[in-house]
Amino acid sequence: MSVAPGVSRRPYFPERGNEGYWVEHYELSLDYRVGAGRLRASAVISAFASRSPSLPAFTLDLSSSLRVSGVLVDGEPARYTHRGDKLRITPARPLHEGTLFAVDVRYGGDPRPLTSRWGGLGWDRLTDGVIVAGQPTGAPSWFPCNDDPADKATYRVTVTTGSAYEVVANGRLADRRRAASTTTWVYEQPQPMATYLASVQIGRYQSAEVPGPVPQRLVHPARLASRVRADFARQPAMIALFSDLFGPYPFAGYTVVVTADDLEIPVEAQGMSIFGANHVDGRRGEERLIAHELAHQWFGNSLTLEDWRDIWLHEGFAAYAEWLWSQASGEETADALAARWHRRLAALPQDFTLADPGARRLFDDRVYKRGALTLHALRRAIGDEAFFALLREWTATYQHGGVTTERFTRLAARHAATSLDDLFAEWLHTERLPASLTHRTV
Ligand SMILES: [Zn+2]
Repeated sequence: MSVAPGVSRRPYFPERGNEGYWVEHYELSLDYRVGAGRLRASAVISAFASRSPSLPAFTLDLSSSLRVSGVLVDGEPARYTHRGDKLRITPARPLHEGTLFAVDVRYGGDPRPLTSRWGGLGWDRLTDGVIVAGQPTGAPSWFPCNDDPADKATYRVTVTTGSAYEVVANGRLADRRRAASTTTWVYEQPQPMATYLASVQIGRYQSAEVPGPVPQRLVHPARLASRVRADFARQPAMIALFSDLFGPYPFAGYTVVVTADDLEIPVEAQGMSIFGANHVDGRRGEERLIAHELAHQWFGNSLTLEDWRDIWLHEGFAAYAEWLWSQASGEETADALAARWHRRLAALPQDFTLADPGARRLFDDRVYKRGALTLHALRRAIGDEAFFALLREWTATYQHGGVTTERFTRLAARHAATSLDDLFAEWLHTERLPASLTHRTV
């Protein structure tokens, strides 16, 4: 990837991400004491050197509140410094362009959330357990990484902790071994994953399997069992609807974790979503959120933005999925919801463009709703058949890959009989909200 000198290719988080290599695989081994909040860990990172002709030194993102005790590159001790959440490593010999190399980082300490404008991000302690909420830049709170959503990699995560706790991480549970007082859990995520979607959840949970074409797992404190069962009862129907409209569910399974603590908002992770105790009431009171988080498995986790400015490709689509579920489940139609939200947005400040809203508006509800309205306007312009064919081709073409707004508009143009240039210019690149949801085509 080449950019002009002095121009960051990560304008929202210029301090994150690193040049000169691409990660292929993360192998994380974590030994964690829940009561003391102490971590002892190693990360073995396989990466390709991409700098020509060679890479004399490189950096990884890692919270400065963790302590590094040793770094090996291809088995040999390497020099390193660690400050400002950057681990700078100088291998014994430069790494030639195109070679695969392994970095082994030993580290530990008391992992804690990284501060951000959205509050603490990353590894956080619950009353009796752990939650990881990585979006957008929390991953370095618990492992050294190339914290760039464009650099997706496979993972194997091993967690050893007290046997009273259930541990959930992304992907398939490959092994579980019990020792005297601890249990070791091994999870494998063979589909590429962005760092912010990597997650570990630890709690005194029980776990129930929900069989079906997409195996689901509900993980929660025993006291919330009946509420969770009631609130997630229609999730299999949601998966069926979204698979029909968006294309096949992109992962081997889907795990929902409900924490014993309340959470401000649910948390998305690859193959997994995390809800707070306050999000379950036994009366499907937050079903909208269940649909929203599920939709992120297609839009966000399988298809991941390469730059945070394209957040609408995640949140606009997930918000629209809420409306599709609402209509399919016999509640308010997508048309009615679109009309209502169009009126509401028209009364709010229109001071950003959807395709580049600015870092501080990443999680602004206006971005979510304007994104959903853009999709509804597009659907009206090209018709239902072309619209859903477009979504299915979108998820198939970029499955487990990276996406941009330009790639979406280019693919959409191929599903339209007339030019969509004006529609996208008005909805994506103009601050003022279009006056109508029906676009006049010429
Ligand atoms: Zn979302």
